Amino acid sequence: MQHNWTRYLRLIVVFLIMSVGAGLLVGQALAGLVLGLLMYLGWTLIQIRKLHHWLNNPDAASEAPESIGLWGDIFDSIHRLQRDHLMTRDRLQAAVNRVQESTNAMRDGVIMTDARGVMEWWNGSAEYLLGFRRHTDRGQYIHNLIRNPAFKAYFDARDYREPLELNSPAKPHIHLQIQISLFGDDDRLIVAKDVTRLFQLEQMRRDFVGNVSHEMRTPLTVISGYLETMVDHSDDLPPKWRRAVATMAQQSSRMEALITDLILLSKLETGEQMINDAVTDIRELTTQVCHDAKALSGDKQHEIVVDIGERHFLRGDEGQLRSAFSNLIFNAVKYTPARGRVNVRWSTDKAGAHLSVKDTGIGIDPVHIPRLTERFYRADPSRHQETGGTGLGLAIVKHVLLNHDGRLEIKSGVGKGSEFICHFPRERIAEQPPEPLDHSAD
Ligand code: ADP
Repeated sequence: MQHNWTRYLRLIVVFLIMSVGAGLLVGQALAGLVLGLLMYLGWTLIQIRKLHHWLNNPDAASEAPESIGLWGDIFDSIHRLQRDHLMTRDRLQAAVNRVQESTNAMRDGVIMTDARGVMEWWNGSAEYLLGFRRHTDRGQYIHNLIRNPAFKAYFDARDYREPLELNSPAKPHIHLQIQISLFGDDDRLIVAKDVTRLFQLEQMRRDFVGNVSHEMRTPLTVISGYLETMVDHSDDLPPKWRRAVATMAQQSSRMEALITDLILLSKLETGEQMINDAVTDIRELTTQVCHDAKALSGDKQHEIVVDIGERHFLRGDEGQLRSAFSNLIFNAVKYTPARGRVNVRWSTDKAGAHLSVKDTGIGIDPVHIPRLTERFYRADPSRHQETGGTGLGLAIVKHVLLNHDGRLEIKSGVGKGSEFICHFPRERIAEQPPEPLDHSAD
């Protein structure tokens, strides 16, 4: 290129010298130079006009203007650049088309939005599952089309580790699982999966367990009642029946406890009868539960130490919180040998409120910790006969905490005791409720 450029420069200089030479012939060297320059300028303007016309006339994009010299080279280079650009564009367009075709074939709805939620693109399944319209919804805010506060909160929170479940705004019988990923310049890729069948099965399972437990409760109450009476009058029974009746009474009360826990768990799962914004006095609640734990400890004489910090009011359902805390505190007593120590501590900080139940008991092998909150999971199955637990206690704790936006942390090691900590978010901490008005003087 450099070589061409010097050649053109030389040509121009030669042309100008010739113009001066021609001027000299008539005794007007300067006029010859000016004339030569004007001619060159005129020619350059004609080429610029050609270029301008070509660039502004897209129909002629493929046909470069004819020219010679430097301008011919410039036209050729631009033409080559343009051709490369068109080829790259076609290749990219083909790739985009392929991606769009394959995403269109997906059964899951896929939606792309920008950081504010402006809809840029979505596939056919998104139209079906969420009721979007191809021609009118582009450029709309997704929150205007999925008018669900939980969705807006999920979208804005930018914490997409767990998916969100909701009913489709267009077809309420469709249950969707929404998963968002961040990409590009804070843009969002939203995937909506139809999980209706799974949701219905889960619902059926919950209903079934709830119904069966309810149905079994009445006959079992009758059987337990009679067995209790028989135990009370066991002196009247033939000796060979006494042991059998005592064991039957013991087992039927275990079954009653199991059914009570199953019913509670199915209520917790459905969020039924939850009073979520009442203010509960944690000091009063834990003191009562620890009092019952002392009775449970009985001859084993555990030392139960309660330390409740300031700001001991929590927004939540007192019944549910009582179930959770008593399960943890009773477990600490059950799994700690006689004269052991149980510490119950309530504290608050910037992160929120925390209830820690720490014991000096047998401890748990850390391999079991991730599964402890599963129903009927036991770290040491050989012990459960001894402790008489239902195997549902920690599952209940987990669900109560879920209902209160909290989480359970477990720290333990074999022979090192255990610590169960319930973490509640800061928004759940409440100030002291107003004293109820005393009307006795009226
Ligand atoms: P269970 O009715 O068997 O106590 P839970 O759901 O309350 O059922 O507890 C599940 C398992 O976790 C228990 O079987 C026990 O192995 C273990 N566990 C719970 N709390 C403690 C504790 N404080 N110390 C040691 N092990 C515990």
